[in-house]
Amino acid sequence: MTRPLLLIALLISPATRAADALTTRPTIIPAAEWGSKPLPIPDARKHTPKYITVHHAGVLWKTGDDPVKKLQGLQAYGQRDKNWPDLPYHFLIAPDGRIFAGRPVHYEPETNTTYKTTGHLGIELWGDFTKQRPSKEQVTALVNLTAHLATDHKIEMKDIGAHKDRAQTACPGQDLYRYFESGQFRDWVKAAQSSTDPKIDLGPPLKNGPTDPIPAK
Ligand SMILES: [Zn+2]
Repeated sequence: MTRPLLLIALLISPATRAADALTTRPTIIPAAEWGSKPLPIPDARKHTPKYITVHHAGVLWKTGDDPVKKLQGLQAYGQRDKNWPDLPYHFLIAPDGRIFAGRPVHYEPETNTTYKTTGHLGIELWGDFTKQRPSKEQVTALVNLTAHLATDHKIEMKDIGAHKDRAQTACPGQDLYRYFESGQFRDWVKAAQSSTDPKIDLGPPLKNGPTDPIPAK
């Protein structure tokens, strides 16, 4: 009887794990764990999160790119060239779906564009979605993180959007923005909040949109 039971366990377990990943709190790699070196942020920049705003890096992700090096590079660039004490975003998501903590959530983010950043929680996905497509792992992590942040900070569905909804920009690229434009993203978040599998399906490429998937590693 051992063998059939083992077989059943093997058949059941991957599906169970997939469902759990969408409903349980996402794992976030703490800033201290990836070697973050933030500078002090002035108290005047403290805020209360009211909106969630999604970005892409706008830089093509290539095979072999290392998310930790990208994080350290972005932080160092901001400190050196932009006078940003810490990363411009609160969370950053790698193509394999790993979520890294950036700036602490109780400080407003930074931007290169013009909009009032107070109250915005910034989530960035690595990649350039004008030239490549996000991975399912990345979008699944984004949906799960957004669902939990919205619940934790009592952020309304109407206040969840993309950078393009806030300012004059192409960010987060047409192949990620499409899910915001169609309302699909909010539907996925609503499903995740009600512990239902959002059944994330990124669909076929857009006409005149990017076709290359982002390399997972
Ligand atoms: Zn952006």
